Amino acid sequence: MIRGTLYIVSAPSGAGKTSLVAALLKARSSLVVSVSHTTRQPRDGEVDGQHYHFVNAEQFLGMIEDGAFLEHARVFDHYYGTSRAAVEAELERGLDVILEIDWQGAQQVRRLMPGCQSVFIVPPSRDELRRRLHTRGKDSESVIERRLGEAVKEISHFDEYDYLVVNDDFDRALAELVAIFTANRLHTRPQRHRHEALLRDLLASGEANP
Ligand code: 5GP
Repeated sequence: MIRGTLYIVSAPSGAGKTSLVAALLKARSSLVVSVSHTTRQPRDGEVDGQHYHFVNAEQFLGMIEDGAFLEHARVFDHYYGTSRAAVEAELERGLDVILEIDWQGAQQVRRLMPGCQSVFIVPPSRDELRRRLHTRGKDSESVIERRLGEAVKEISHFDEYDYLVVNDDFDRALAELVAIFTANRLHTRPQRHRHEALLRDLLASGEANP
C-alpha cells in the first residue's frame, strides 16, 4: 500500500476554502478531509463528527496532555486541533488527507511532516473579501472589522505555502486545485509502485531488443 499524501489548505475566512474543498472531494475519490476538534459552539447546520468534533475546553486540554493532536492552535478565541491517530490511519490506508487549518497549525505540521504539500487560497480583492465577510451572517460592523483584521494576518503567511490559488472564479480555482492534487499523484515514487508491472514489462522488452 502506498502511503497517502498530507495536504494543508489554509485561507482567510471569506476566501471560499470550504466550498472549494467540498467540490475537490467530489472530484477525487482517494481524498478525505480531516475532521478537527474544536471548543467553539456548533453553527446552524453543523453536525458533530462531520463538520467538527465539538468538545469542551477540559476535554481539549486533556487531549493536548495525551499528545493526541498532530497540531493545535487557538483561533478567534477557540481551540482547534487535528487528531494525530485519525490522520495517520487514513494516510496508512493510502488516502490523501486534507487538513483545513490555519497558518499556526500549518507551521507545526510542516515541521513534523516535511513531505506534506500546502496550498493557500486568497480572495480576488480586499473589497470582495469585505463583501463576503458581510454576507456571511448578521454580524455587527465591529465583528466584521475584527474578522478583516484576522484575515489580513492569515494572508500575511501566504509565502510559507507551496501553492497559491486566487479564488476569483470558482470553477477556475477548482481546476487549479485539481491540477495541484493530480500533479502530486503523478510523482515518480508513487507511480512506480502503482505501475510496477507495466514498468517491469517495458524494461524487460527493452532488454530483449537492446
Ligand atoms: P471556523 O470556526 O470558521 O470553522 O474556522 C476558523 C479557523 O480555524 C479557520 O481558519 C480554520 O482553518 C481554522 N481551523 C479549523 N480547524 C483547525 C484545526 O484543526 N487546526 C488549526 N490550527 N486550525 C483550524
